[in-house]
Amino acid sequence: MKNSDLPSIAELLRQAHQRLKTVSDSPLLDAQLLLAHSLQKEISYLLAWQEVVPDLPQQTLFQGYLVQREQGIPVAYLLGCKEFWSLPFAVTPDVLIPRPETELLVEQVLEYCQTLEQARILELGTGSGAIAIALAKEIPNASITASDISSAALDIARKNAQTLNQQRIEFVLSDWFTAIPLNTFDIIVSNPPYIEAADEHLTGAIRHEPMTALVSGADGLDAIRVIISEAKAYLQNGGALMLEHGYKQGKQIRKLFAASGYKQARTIRDYAGNERVTTGIL
Ligand code: GLN
Repeated sequence: MKNSDLPSIAELLRQAHQRLKTVSDSPLLDAQLLLAHSLQKEISYLLAWQEVVPDLPQQTLFQGYLVQREQGIPVAYLLGCKEFWSLPFAVTPDVLIPRPETELLVEQVLEYCQTLEQARILELGTGSGAIAIALAKEIPNASITASDISSAALDIARKNAQTLNQQRIEFVLSDWFTAIPLNTFDIIVSNPPYIEAADEHLTGAIRHEPMTALVSGADGLDAIRVIISEAKAYLQNGGALMLEHGYKQGKQIRKLFAASGYKQARTIRDYAGNERVTTGIL
């Protein structure tokens, strides 16, 4: 096929935008991200060079991404990358894709750390390492341990720590607290699985993400119950437990904190106005 028979950037984007409308809330942006990635360029290049006709290997690569996106695979897995805390994190289907609202959890830890000389932080269920690595970057003198039950996830987290130059994080393979050394931490932070097993939102792109990172029992609170009750043995007196959770779970989680003897259980809302993070002080 001659290059002149192939579609231009403008035409490729127009077609892809149409095709992705049924699977994506952001069909044009998805098309732009995937085409830019296929051409190894920025999105700004696509806008400036709309008449350019990509070569056949680039077009084939792009069509391959489109087919996968049509099957519901999230853009972040196709690109192999997702930005969090303004840092580029490598992601694969072995890890949850970091969400923007989780930055709220990082902000809460940073705020609490202002009162500490040298914070000892434990992150449970680190996945891609997003939270631990963002914290390591912001608090250079903190000692940070990050765990996950999945060795494949820990491989990604370690790789991200290396690429993003935050190698002092200690990574531990652990089912919540089972392999955590009986240290005392000032802060334990987690974005655990918290979706109900029968939740109707478990359709679309999310079904390509690891279910162990998303779903936690009938009411979504199985992991959170374990973490709240077991964290006490690992927290310093006056230490803080900080958890992300579902938008309808704030009240139950404040109750769980109180029942386990934490003081000052406090819930913070995300930018969409939903209850998203609850913190308790031991
Ligand atoms: N916030 C994610 C979602 O609803 C869930 C993440 C989690 O379970 N920790 O897509």
